[in-house]
Amino acid sequence: MDFDFSPEEQKFAEEVDAWLVENRDPVVMDHHRENFTQLSDTPERRAFMKKLAAKGWLGMSWPKEFGGQEIEGVYEYILNEALSKHAAPQIGKGVGIIGKTLIRHGNDFLKQKFLPLILDAEIEFAVGYSEPEAGSDAANMQLRADKVEGGWLLNGQKMWTTSAHFADWYWVGARTDQDKPKHDGLSLFLIDMDNPNLEVQSLPTIGKDTTNQVFFDDVFVPDEYLVGQQGKGFQMISEALDLERFTMFTLSPIANRSEVLVDWVKEAKRDDEPLKDDTNVRRTIAHIMTDTAVAKALSTRFVCAAKSGGKPPTIESSQYKLFTTSLSQRVCKDALDIQGHEGTIMEGQDDAPLRGRFEGAYRATMNETVGGGSSEIQKNIIARRHLGLPKNF
Ligand SMILES: Cc1cc2nc3c(=O)[nH]c(=O)nc-3n(C[C@H](O)[C@H](O)[C@H](O)COP(=O)(O)OP(=O)(O)OC[C@H]3O[C@@H](n4cnc5c(N)ncnc54)[C@H](O)[C@@H]3O)c2cc1C
Repeated sequence: MDFDFSPEEQKFAEEVDAWLVENRDPVVMDHHRENFTQLSDTPERRAFMKKLAAKGWLGMSWPKEFGGQEIEGVYEYILNEALSKHAAPQIGKGVGIIGKTLIRHGNDFLKQKFLPLILDAEIEFAVGYSEPEAGSDAANMQLRADKVEGGWLLNGQKMWTTSAHFADWYWVGARTDQDKPKHDGLSLFLIDMDNPNLEVQSLPTIGKDTTNQVFFDDVFVPDEYLVGQQGKGFQMISEALDLERFTMFTLSPIANRSEVLVDWVKEAKRDDEPLKDDTNVRRTIAHIMTDTAVAKALSTRFVCAAKSGGKPPTIESSQYKLFTTSLSQRVCKDALDIQGHEGTIMEGQDDAPLRGRFEGAYRATMNETVGGGSSEIQKNIIARRHLGLPKNF
């Protein structure tokens, strides 16, 4: 297994890095907010995404016939990591999840309408799978889609829809066949977020970010906005979730945080004693740096699997998500322990060490271990698909 990038991949990594330095915009690339910048919408952020589109860096792995370059997914990985290292917004759900699923399963109308808009960074999407009784068990969705003349009428509720407060289009799973087994009765739709019968209500999270719940009251969706075959929604959602884990979780914020912590420890004192001389602190830092190196090796394995397989690497992406989100949480928690009671001072308050960065980041890591499939579900995937263990144990 070759862990190094090829000369072309290395050249691309350097090109992206240099471009991000040259195009640094403190409004959209704020290290303090790390990679959560994609969760808020500003004109500056949209302008930044248009610049990325103009560089031809959106949809690089897509087929040429749909405006892509048909190059390996590793280039998207390199781009994502660089964006994350510079605290810039990620390429997003349109390119990574919705575009790829539409290319595989969408009708000609949907491909022609959405793929160019995605590549030009013209639209933002929200993804609606979760409901009050359907989180980890996505197949249990109850949002109802009833067939009517020329389309479908949707009624019910979604939970935890990130970006619904600014997205233009909604990618939604709904139950189109009430009598079929639960996995076979679901279908996927694209819905204009301007639909007056959709009501978006904000849901604050334990981190700084906000997600939403969305209510559907006779929302009409025309026939042509059904994605793929009726009743095949669950299979498409499973594919899209693998793509999500593959594209959405990057290592750079963790590496950045570890380095920031080490730099701080080098200078900080407690009771006039340098922290860097404290044996416990040194041991904690050594653990963090070792595990960050392990995470790097896992991510490389994951890239190698993507390079050789052509398909989203399911098990590797679960291993990677489980390990990195828990490491991310541990780095923040260890940092707070090292900072002592001052670590609990929040951002914006006087005397907050490192502007309260670790206090806010620690709360935000609770979301990381849940969103995109919780840690327990990743363990189930690894246990069953990789270790061959029985379904329940
Ligand atoms: C910040 C944030 C943003 C999100 N954004 C979106 C979004 O944009 N779109 C969207 O559709 N969803 C989104 N989600 C929802 C997220 O995907 C779900 O919260 C997640 O899948 C867990 O579902 P749940 O909250 O219903 O918990 P539940 O499924 O009720 O699970 C509760 C607990 O039980 C555990 N558990 C459940 N089943 C099993 C099992 N079989 N074996 C072992 N343990 C199990 C879970 O791991 C969890 O710890 C978001 C969530 C958060 C926190």
